[in-house]
Amino acid sequence: MFDNLSTKLDKAFKTLKGQGSITEINVAATVKEIRRALVDADVNYKVAKEVTDKIKEEAMGRDVLVAVSPGQLMTKIVYDELTQLMGGEKQDIQVKGDPAVILLSGLQGSGKTTFAGKLAAHLKKQGRQVLLVACDVYRPAAIDQLKVLAEQVGVDVYSEPENKNPVDISRNAVEFARKNNKKVVIIDTAGRLAVDEQMMAEIEQVKRAVNPSETLFVVDSMTGQDAVNTAKTFNDRLNFDGVVLTKLDGDSRGGAALSIRAVVEKPIKFISTGEKMEALDLFYPDRMAQRILG
Ligand code: GDP
Repeated sequence: MFDNLSTKLDKAFKTLKGQGSITEINVAATVKEIRRALVDADVNYKVAKEVTDKIKEEAMGRDVLVAVSPGQLMTKIVYDELTQLMGGEKQDIQVKGDPAVILLSGLQGSGKTTFAGKLAAHLKKQGRQVLLVACDVYRPAAIDQLKVLAEQVGVDVYSEPENKNPVDISRNAVEFARKNNKKVVIIDTAGRLAVDEQMMAEIEQVKRAVNPSETLFVVDSMTGQDAVNTAKTFNDRLNFDGVVLTKLDGDSRGGAALSIRAVVEKPIKFISTGEKMEALDLFYPDRMAQRILG
């Protein structure tokens, strides 16, 4: 994960190795390399500039302690800034209401249905009664896919294969949950290959109809800046609560993970790192920064 970025940052810190102190000249050179590493990792340019300006300011404002080398000091400053860039504190999802409703949005192929299964397993482990709802009325195969995953993790699925109205299906699912003692309803909505008006209008209506305590936007991290732009478009319409970054196991760059929070101003809440149901993690900005720095 993010191997290229880790290697390049390491190289940038090495430019400070052997230097006795932090000076404007050696900091400027290091910061320039860090910025290039971030941009190469597909971090939004404005974000890369802002964060490296902060790193520079921090570095110039610090006295190097006797026990700390300039390289170590810079590593610590970059760690702090990357942690802040990705949101600082871990952010939990809100599971509230009777039943609590969690709405999933995102493009087709982003890993939404897979994540629905993982989230169901995660919440079930916390002792909650979960109901998965298949709301993709365009792809009958999506219902079957959700059923297979649900069986794997041992939760029920609500679907209405003959009904082509996702708003009705969602409302009925919530009603069904209430009657059948299900405490959390996870709604997997239809995605498209690209953003389109009908999909947006539809998910907006579903959101209004079921009033979720958490609306998540699921996105493939490997798509880098496209992921960030798509997140922004969805957020403008949906005002979602958090991001799920998928396929991090295949992402060698890291641009989406590093810029989505700053550009969209919504936290990443989960990361998905594989196709298996266990491959789900809560997102800790500090741990991610640590991983990037190796
Ligand atoms: P949806 O169209 O958004 O519902 O996407 P799917 O859940 O069907 O996922 C699309 C493809 O990506 C499937 O082949 C999944 O197995 C795969 N996938 C989903 N999440 C991950 C992940 O975190 N890592 C990897 N490597 N593959 C994933």
